[in-house]
Amino acid sequence: MKIFLASPRGFCQGVRNAVNLAEKALEDYKDSLPIYILGEIVHNKYISESLNKKGLVSVKSINEVSEGSVLIFSAHGVPPAYYLEASKKNIKIIDATCSLVKRVHQKIKKYAEEDYFIFYIGNKDHEETIGVLAECPVNQYYLINNKKDLENIKNNIDLERLKNKKITYLSQTTLNIKEIQEIIDYLKTEFNIEESENQDICYATRERQRAVEDLAKICDLVLILGSQNSSNSKRLKECAENVGCEALLIDSVNDINLKEVLKNKQNIAISAGASAPEILVEELLNKIKLI
Ligand code: SF4
Repeated sequence: MKIFLASPRGFCQGVRNAVNLAEKALEDYKDSLPIYILGEIVHNKYISESLNKKGLVSVKSINEVSEGSVLIFSAHGVPPAYYLEASKKNIKIIDATCSLVKRVHQKIKKYAEEDYFIFYIGNKDHEETIGVLAECPVNQYYLINNKKDLENIKNNIDLERLKNKKITYLSQTTLNIKEIQEIIDYLKTEFNIEESENQDICYATRERQRAVEDLAKICDLVLILGSQNSSNSKRLKECAENVGCEALLIDSVNDINLKEVLKNKQNIAISAGASAPEILVEELLNKIKLI
């Protein structure tokens, strides 16, 4: 059996920065623990659990954070109102929002101020989508979750109102490159979209998807290290499946019966989502060697 390691894989710069900021905060405020994180610093079970053990407490809302505490905003970003809400409680904010997510916040805000109508492509429940859309009045955007949403799009939009509007699109940073291109192509055909350079899928997502797709074409199985709630990790699994290769998304090697999974496989590929640490890849490789 041959093993191919995808390159690049694992931590992107945005995740590395966020995890480093959380580690530093735990060190800087070690005498006044706990400190808080809104949600998870990044969507990865291993990382979240190891930071929680060091004193980082995950909360669902700012209401749960006591006055004057330290609160980290995750790599996915937050709605702008959260900064004000936290400052009213004299909370010290450590902002770990990825700069590429922040860029999309600035873009949607600017388009909204210039009275554009914006098609935003993203997962409605994802923190990044919630944060970005909070920058824009609700009547100025339309959220597209996936290709299926295009089926009814014309019935759900006031087409008359769009006639004299400037129209553009933006997207979440961690979507599937091919699916998003199909959506953009549709929007360009059906609406008077201004030509734009809005390629919001980040470089880390693009490069990891390309690497997995290339390997999936020559392998019988792709193993992706990453959590089920990690958008970019889920997309890596989809990329492999889209070229006809079996793929599994696992938090760690302990999730699977390795012997069973590798049975009759000739070539396997291993990758890791942008929020999954390399230690999980090493652990998997070590277990494979023992078989
Ligand atoms: S996946 Fe992309 S957007 Fe998300 S943290 Fe990494 S670089 Fe930033």
